[in-house]
Amino acid sequence: MKKEYDYLIVGSGLFGSVFAHEATKRGKKCLVIDKRNHLGGNVYCENVEGINVHKYGAHIFHTNDETIWNYVNQFAKFNHYVNSPTALSKGKLYNLPFNMNTFYQLWGTKTPQEAHDKINKQIEEYGTNNPKNLEEQALSLVGKDIYEALIKEYTEKQWGRKTTELPAFIIKRLPVRFTFNNNYFNDKYQGIPVGGYNKIINGLLENIECKTNIDYFQNREHYDSIAHKTVFTGKIDEFFNFEHGMLEYRSLRFENEILDTDNFQGNAVVNYNDAEVPYTRIIEHKHFEFGNQKKTVITREYPENWTPEKEAYYPINDEKNQQIFNIYQKMAEKINNTIFGGRLAEYKYYDMHQIIGSALMHVKKEFKE
Ligand code: UDP
Repeated sequence: MKKEYDYLIVGSGLFGSVFAHEATKRGKKCLVIDKRNHLGGNVYCENVEGINVHKYGAHIFHTNDETIWNYVNQFAKFNHYVNSPTALSKGKLYNLPFNMNTFYQLWGTKTPQEAHDKINKQIEEYGTNNPKNLEEQALSLVGKDIYEALIKEYTEKQWGRKTTELPAFIIKRLPVRFTFNNNYFNDKYQGIPVGGYNKIINGLLENIECKTNIDYFQNREHYDSIAHKTVFTGKIDEFFNFEHGMLEYRSLRFENEILDTDNFQGNAVVNYNDAEVPYTRIIEHKHFEFGNQKKTVITREYPENWTPEKEAYYPINDEKNQQIFNIYQKMAEKINNTIFGGRLAEYKYYDMHQIIGSALMHVKKEFKE
């Protein structure tokens, strides 16, 4: 039976938007629905005082993959922003990621050899060959001083659990470098889209039928009946009615403030690493785009426990959750007419470029290319 749409796409974040774009390019008819009152998922920006405010947390695009870089450049030009956060710990400012500047600030070491000696001694003393959790991984990577000043409290605040109960891979996101280089990422390509992320989403979804304020789960039967296939980018456990238990997430609360100053902190990202400060970082959005507006907008980012009414920002990929996810993933593989993708449906701590990579891979598979 002919249905109205080839694809129903649930969720208009990067996964859904890339898939919709590619399917449309191949002559397919798509309907994109999103439960929020806007498109774009968590990359959505809101213009406040002429500044693009990253409404769902700072998004800095970076990738090593030329194909993905060229892909996003079809929709917007990128500026030359390089993420170089600073971190406040016990009243002192440090450069991130961990590099020669950080080591100098911590120990006064001036050469790579001095820094290596210092770190290796600590790794020998506290590290292990086979780190089983985030604490062991951090101690084996950078030693005790950095772990205590810049990792332990920040991480426990961010995740709401002990570093000994967190997976090791989380800390491997951060580079450790023996050069004076404050670039947070190792990737070849990096920047913020000129005109904001909405420009990319609008480009991807141009000429595609999109409906906002639509909750798929409120009217599931109807939406399933109008398309041959579904691309689902929401929570995979919710898709299966939580029948094998609920997955856990970490949530965030953002507190925005407009300030009557043109420069509040001199940097887009300042981390607050002490446990006593309830937020993990302050974002000053104008610095992502070298803005020279008279005012500034800052956002304090408070990690929060997740409950079903809140936004699920981070999957918690510990063993318990991973086991539940594996069951849902097996169930998903058996459903031929639904494609699952994105941070929530794949239950993966994905960055933007990885989500685009995943979407393009699913496109290739779907269209047998
Ligand atoms: N992290 C840390 N200290 C910092 C910044 C990050 O220990 O000052 C650790 C922390 O465990 C965090 C992880 O590194 O969860 C990843 O940080 P990133 O900034 O990449 O996370 P995101 O921007 O995705 O929240």
